[in-house]
Amino acid sequence: MTKLLCVYCASSDRLDPKYYAAAAELGREMVLRGWGLVYGGGKTGAMGAVARAVKQNGGRVIGVIPEFMKARELAYTDADELVTVITMRERKLLMETRADAFVALPGGWGTLEEIMEILTLRQLDVVKKPCVFFNQDGFYDELLRLFERMLRENFFKPSNLELYRVATTASGVFDQIEAATGVSADPKWFETR
Ligand code: AMP
Repeated sequence: MTKLLCVYCASSDRLDPKYYAAAAELGREMVLRGWGLVYGGGKTGAMGAVARAVKQNGGRVIGVIPEFMKARELAYTDADELVTVITMRERKLLMETRADAFVALPGGWGTLEEIMEILTLRQLDVVKKPCVFFNQDGFYDELLRLFERMLRENFFKPSNLELYRVATTASGVFDQIEAATGVSADPKWFETR
């Protein structure tokens, strides 16, 4: 079965074109590497760009979209499979279940919320699949620095830093997924002294 990459990315149509170009590049690379796409099913922003690139290059696109967004004609209707759900929570659960790995491209609150939920489930070892930040042009530098502070101040364990990978190119995303396969969370949640 084709592996599915869950892509979290921006819905905004008002970004610098470089973000749509990188999303499309990721879509092409995905098909080259034999992966399919599972994502939020939108046609706007970087979401639309990645989906169209996958489709144009002969890959498989699975969108998971809430009914209220579909009703507002935000859905990418050329998807091979467009699953309609009621809530954003159901959407996230379905994307998480179907995916074999996760990547966050530069994005806004929606993107951040989705990838942070995956990291939270990674640290609990509920999700065991690779998780990558596509740090295009240093977009995630401040967030990664915040993670370092969280570690310094003991909000989590050093092994948490192994639960995600960082890539700076589309092909790097897949290299990092391969490198991350099989890394599981440290079962010891609290340090007891
Ligand atoms: P954002 O980064 O805030 O643009 O949110 C994008 C992410 O959140 C996507 O991965 C979607 O799953 C979800 N999302 C938030 N807003 C929208 C929207 N207007 N259309 C489609 N998906 C959205």
